[in-house]
Amino acid sequence: MLCSECFNDEGLKLSAFQMGTKSEEPCENCGNTSGRKLNAAVIAQLAHRFFVWGTLHRCKFGAAPIIQFNEHQKTNITPSSWLEEDIGLFEKAIGIGFFHYGPRLWMIGEVEPLKDLENKDTRELTIDRILNEYPSTYLKKDDSFYRIRVNPEKPSLESEYDTAPINYSGSGRLDSSELPILYGSQDLEVCIHECRVSSEDDIYVATFEAAQDLKLLDLSVVLQEEFTEFESLDMAVHMLFLAGKHSYEISREISRLAKNNGYDGIIFPSYFSLLRSGGMPFETTYGLSHRRIPQLQEYEGMKIIKNLALFDRPLLDSKIRIKCINKLVLHTVEYGVHFGPVEY
Ligand SMILES: [Zn+2]
Repeated sequence: MLCSECFNDEGLKLSAFQMGTKSEEPCENCGNTSGRKLNAAVIAQLAHRFFVWGTLHRCKFGAAPIIQFNEHQKTNITPSSWLEEDIGLFEKAIGIGFFHYGPRLWMIGEVEPLKDLENKDTRELTIDRILNEYPSTYLKKDDSFYRIRVNPEKPSLESEYDTAPINYSGSGRLDSSELPILYGSQDLEVCIHECRVSSEDDIYVATFEAAQDLKLLDLSVVLQEEFTEFESLDMAVHMLFLAGKHSYEISREISRLAKNNGYDGIIFPSYFSLLRSGGMPFETTYGLSHRRIPQLQEYEGMKIIKNLALFDRPLLDSKIRIKCINKLVLHTVEYGVHFGPVEY
C-alpha cells in the first residue's frame, strides 16, 4: 500500500525501510520501485513505533506516550511542517487519526503498593509483602556469572573482583553504607552497560562460580496476581527497578530486609533490560498493561534481563570462587534506533 519512499520525514523513511519488505513492483502510492513495501499491518506497526513509542514520556515512576491513534478519532495533533503530508498517508492508508493521549493514571505511577513503598510509614510493611509474594530461587553450586571491573589496580588479583571496599558502598541501587553488594549478571552485555564503560577504559571480566547453593529473592519475575494495575505489587516492583536514582532509598531497604530474612542476595531486573532486549517499556493495549494479560506475560518476562546482587563479601566469605579472569576488549558498539516526532 505504501513504501519507505512515500514518506517525507527522514525518521519515518528510515524506520519504514527497516520494517518494510523488498519488492521490484512499483509502489501503489508513489510509483517508486526502490522503497521497501509496507502492507496495512506494517503501516500500523510503523505508526505505533514512531508516534506512540516515539513520544513515550518517562515520569518519576512509569511512562506514558503523548500521542495515540485509533480508527475512531480524527487527527488533532500539530506536527512539524515536514510531517504533515506523512500523517495524511497514514490516515488514508489505514483509516486512523492521531490524538493527544490522556494516560490512565497507573501508567505514571499511581499504583497503591508503589505509593506505600514511597511512604516511609508503610514502606516496611510493603517490603514484607514483597518478601512473602516473590519467589525464592537458587544460584546453584557451580552456576557461573560475570562481574566487570574497570581499571583495577592489579587485574590478576582475585580480591579485586570481590565487593568494593565499604567506603565505596552506598551509591548503587541496592548497596548502602551498612550493606556492601557485589553486582554481577549472567548476561555479559548487561554487565558492560551497567559499568558504563568506554573504549578508553581498561576492562576486565571475572567469571565467578557459586561455591554452594545461594538463596536469592527473585524480583525479576512477572508476579501472578488478580489485581488491576492500580493495586498491583508486580507493577510497583517493575516500575521501581526501571526508575532512576530517586528510587534507590526504597530498593536499598529491600536488600537490607532481604538479608535479615536469610537471603544471600537478590535477582533484580536490569535498568538496561529494555535497551538490551529492544522491548518497549510499559506496553499497553487499551490502557491495560501487557504484564497483566496472561497470554503476553511470557513475552513481557523475556524483555527483562536479570541482574544479580550478592550481599556482603561473597568471595571473602567463600560463597563464590573465581573460575577465570579475562581482559575484555570492546571492538564494536552497535546502536539500534528508531524515531519519533519533535513537536505535536
Ligand atoms: Zn511509495
